[in-house]
Amino acid sequence: MKCPICSKPASEDYKPFCSKRCADIDLHKWVSGSYVVPGEPVPPEQMPPRGEREE
Ligand SMILES: [Zn+2]
Repeated sequence: MKCPICSKPASEDYKPFCSKRCADIDLHKWVSGSYVVPGEPVPPEQMPPRGEREE
């Protein structure tokens, strides 16, 4: 298995990542909203202005 961040071989301790650093990078991506999952709640600061939402 390769690290999804840097494509190095994954570490047993941090798989699927190669290191804590890459695991942290991935976590930060989630926290910062780089991964947009359809249907997931969006943090308020990323909401479009009122009136432009579909619901
Ligand atoms: Zn890595």
